[in-house]
Amino acid sequence: MMKLPAMTFREWDGPLTSDLVREPAKFGLGQVPTHLMPDATTKAICGFCSTGCGLKIHLKDGAAINLTPDPDYPVNLGTACPKGWEALSALDAPDRARMPLLHGKEVDWDTALRYFCDKMREIIDQHGPEAAAYLSTGQIMFEEMAFLGALAKFGMGMIHGDGNTRQCMATAVAAYKESFGFDAPPFAYSDFEESDVLLFIGANPCIAHPIMWQRVLRNKRKPEIIVVDPRTTETAMAATQHYAIKPKSDLTLLYGIAHLIIRDGGLDTAFIEEHTSGFDEFMLFVAAFHPNRVADETGISVHRLVHLAQTIIHGTPRVSLWWTMGVNQGHQATRTAQAIINLALMTGNIGKPGTGANSITGQCNAMGSRLFSNTTNLLGGHDFRNPRHREKVADAIGIPVERIPDRPSLAYDQIIKAADAGTVKALWFIATNPSHSWIDQNEINRILDKLDFVVVQDMYCSTETAKRAHLVLPAAGWGEKEGCFINSERRIGYSPKVRRAPGQALADFHIFRLISHYWGCDDLFRGWSSPEAVFRVLQRCTEGQPCDITGIDGHEMLQKSGGVQWPLSREQRPKFDVSVSKERRLFTDGKFYTPDQRAKFIFDEPQAPPEQCSNDYPLILMTGRGTSAQWHTETRTSKSAVLAKMIPEELMLDLNPLDASRLGVRDGMQVRVISKRAELTAKARLTTCVSPGEVFLPMHDSRVNQLTHASYDPQSRQPSYKHSAVRVEK
Ligand code: SF4
Repeated sequence: MMKLPAMTFREWDGPLTSDLVREPAKFGLGQVPTHLMPDATTKAICGFCSTGCGLKIHLKDGAAINLTPDPDYPVNLGTACPKGWEALSALDAPDRARMPLLHGKEVDWDTALRYFCDKMREIIDQHGPEAAAYLSTGQIMFEEMAFLGALAKFGMGMIHGDGNTRQCMATAVAAYKESFGFDAPPFAYSDFEESDVLLFIGANPCIAHPIMWQRVLRNKRKPEIIVVDPRTTETAMAATQHYAIKPKSDLTLLYGIAHLIIRDGGLDTAFIEEHTSGFDEFMLFVAAFHPNRVADETGISVHRLVHLAQTIIHGTPRVSLWWTMGVNQGHQATRTAQAIINLALMTGNIGKPGTGANSITGQCNAMGSRLFSNTTNLLGGHDFRNPRHREKVADAIGIPVERIPDRPSLAYDQIIKAADAGTVKALWFIATNPSHSWIDQNEINRILDKLDFVVVQDMYCSTETAKRAHLVLPAAGWGEKEGCFINSERRIGYSPKVRRAPGQALADFHIFRLISHYWGCDDLFRGWSSPEAVFRVLQRCTEGQPCDITGIDGHEMLQKSGGVQWPLSREQRPKFDVSVSKERRLFTDGKFYTPDQRAKFIFDEPQAPPEQCSNDYPLILMTGRGTSAQWHTETRTSKSAVLAKMIPEELMLDLNPLDASRLGVRDGMQVRVISKRAELTAKARLTTCVSPGEVFLPMHDSRVNQLTHASYDPQSRQPSYKHSAVRVEK
């Protein structure tokens, strides 16, 4: 009989995330060089994840030498995760891009920018405005994002541009827009501390958002913490209830819970009648999700389904529901997110402390891109198709309205498909590395390699995508430039420049300014002279929108106040006292942003995932974050020697001991993981954290997305990374 490894409160045999946060110095985090003593301190916002922690940056002769978490910042309250502690070390890496590279050879900026403009213009002139597109990021400041989107579309005449936020947040955007009438995550982080029941669906905050998890641990109400996740993650182990559903049965489970809440009298009928629409149709729809059917399709017993529904019913009025990539990266992601929203609406859990249907964002400025990237939405959450919106934004910016396209961009996957078809011939990537991160990696790399012109603008010249580029534009990183991020709770924070960028690398903001000059459209952007000036332009774009920020008094107010959550309109400003209004949530009046001010119940029949297991590929592969010391494609976190000690040395495949026994695989053995698309080798880690028939790989290894199957949620076009079929061999 094979000995099963003990269930441990961790994902690997390294330090626990909670220990790293509590005792950072023990792990070498935040050490001050002994020969240096700071002579000044300034404040910044961490540039990794969407938590948006405040950091104190310690300066010597005006340059950052060290940092510590800011005890006064209302987000993190003096804590930081390993990535935040090591944020400065990523700036000193030897593979920083220091000079523009044209076909791999160093050139000066004048040559690079002339080449960029000549080549882009030639392609657009010959093949039309759809032949060139940009693919951007949630990692740069939103003043920079806005400049890029405005330059590319209003200045250079492109139609298409999207961002890597399509991989993480597009689903939440699509779900909120349809259900609430605007992309509006309703919560404040204080809701973690004020809930009686916290339901995490496809979310692992212990690893992915460790400082949000610290906020959960501050909850004094002895909350019930429920995790719905196929894997027994760190968060699942710390929860009071864990439901290890079959992969991608979440939509069925959520409809089944709605069925039980209706059956067992858990509705808030007053809220439903006054503030929602479509409930009667929804009630009829979920009548078909009988507990026996749901138990069969999810793998959760009827008894446990009833227990879950009862916990929600008796947790009212303070139940909060949280989701992230486990939901967003699914083949029916938008409907799944809306099924979570439906649960909040039917139980009246929204607009009050400790409640909400709350999507946790991924990148530090994914929320900024939702308002200001000018990709799917016109600046300020407007609609390219709406002539009144185009007039308003043209007026706010001071450009002719004809400059604004009358249709939104193709989505990321559609741009790549158009590149394969030959319609798109030039792609400009800004601070993103799709050759590693995009789904079905070999396919996107095949397409990139046949393009006429690939430009990568990045901190590093060594990324998998930069290596494929004809032209590399060297960019400054976080800490080497200034601007604002928006975090998951809609908090706008300012981050200053505290270092010089290496070599001739420039802030993305200045690269966009230079391109506007070389392209000959700088007269359109004459007022866009600094990030602060662009912030003022963007404020005007938000006027009258749910995200109205006309009441913020520039970067200085953001610095002094510990950040400001949107909205803060000019009308709200006199009543806004920063010292007592630190955390605000939306929908406290039960009014939503739809035309009738009612939130909508939206639903659809669950479908089977597109790639099913077979005799040749009998296991379901799920991918996700590995440890709290790793960030996405590791272009930055891999540069830190301290973080390197906190991660496994090899790619680890989580494999259930029962499957291992059947395959003759022992713990620590090298195995081949094979999908229809590719294969890789990994070290087997035998663990009951995955169920029989399921395996898990962390997404940070550059080979993992060679295996993943490309399918997309039809509403949000977000890729589904959570369900590919593989086999494992010795
Ligand atoms: Fe905070 Fe996220 Fe930065 Fe960690 S990576 S310090 S959780 S903002």
